[in-house]
Amino acid sequence: MSDRDNSFFNGFSLGSGRNANWPARALMKQLRNTVIRAGLEALYFSGAHVLLRPIFAGVGAIFMLHHVRPRRDDAFQPNHHLEVEPDFLRAMLAHLRTLDVDIISMDEAHQRLAERNFSQRFACFTFDDGYRDNRDFALPVMREFDAPMTVYVASDFAEGSGRLWWIALERVVAAASAIEVALDGNMTRLDTSTAQAKQAAFDRMHDWLRSLPTEPDMQREISALCVRHGVDESTIARELCLSWDELKRFADDPLVAIGAHTITHCNLARQTEASVSFELATSRARIEAALQQPALHLAYPYGDKIAAGPREFALAKTFGFKTAVTTRPGMLFPESGDHLTALQRVSLNGNYQDERILPVLTSGTATAVWNGFRRIDAA
Ligand SMILES: [Zn+2]
Repeated sequence: MSDRDNSFFNGFSLGSGRNANWPARALMKQLRNTVIRAGLEALYFSGAHVLLRPIFAGVGAIFMLHHVRPRRDDAFQPNHHLEVEPDFLRAMLAHLRTLDVDIISMDEAHQRLAERNFSQRFACFTFDDGYRDNRDFALPVMREFDAPMTVYVASDFAEGSGRLWWIALERVVAAASAIEVALDGNMTRLDTSTAQAKQAAFDRMHDWLRSLPTEPDMQREISALCVRHGVDESTIARELCLSWDELKRFADDPLVAIGAHTITHCNLARQTEASVSFELATSRARIEAALQQPALHLAYPYGDKIAAGPREFALAKTFGFKTAVTTRPGMLFPESGDHLTALQRVSLNGNYQDERILPVLTSGTATAVWNGFRRIDAA
């Protein structure tokens, strides 16, 4: 799961200004998506991305995905940014082949960054959370291109005990025509009778849940919503994520590497240092014990500025991770070799599955503009 406010490039807002004027916020969100889409198309049609590629494309990129599966046609899909269709993945791989970009593993990327070997531009494909559709829909496409993939697994998801609260929330809102909830202590009645109203209610509750002080607070609230609206959140992990047995067979494929994504998929920056250390060390140990292979690469859950910072980057190094990735948008540059546990990524976002934007994405122009032309975002 990654973060939505940078929705195009990532995919999470922090719910700042929770009680801000929500209709205005929803409007702002629509406006922002329109601006992003217009910006991408302007870059594409102007051809600026071709001119700017030598400046902004860097030495490589790490692409971030979550679900890869055929399109669903539900009118209400609040997590749609987290899924792409197999054809879009195929189009990105084919595009990279036309650019003669090496598609490599995270091990190889680590080596090239550490050795400053940038003779050939490279790309990595990473998938967060360990969804079963990565095996059923992404791997067959990756095989067509003999392209490696890294899947970051939250060990509780593989255990079948983890909580995918954003999907539980989607199911609560989908099932209800109205929801009563105490947003910051104010009993609020949210209309969820139409797809549009559901989207607005989902956004509001999503930001509120993510802004609650602690993980237990968030879990308590989402569990209460699930009970009230007849959603069984305890089965979602088993339903959507690969189990240890499935992961063992999946990881046997020479194209597949399994990385860590903490135990509980928590916001690490909100934890104590002891808890972060436990999450990092134990999740890695559980994966290595179950799969009998090293898990030397990490993805920070949510991965944005409020979920992982310098403390987490240092601890990831301390616990022996060769690389760790955030969801902060950005290409890789030579100096990324100095930030191996804070590597930025480029999201392949379900809301922007237009093949025309692929050259804009790989040119690095979009992320450069988004980052105000700053190359490294690891502070
Ligand atoms: Zn995740």
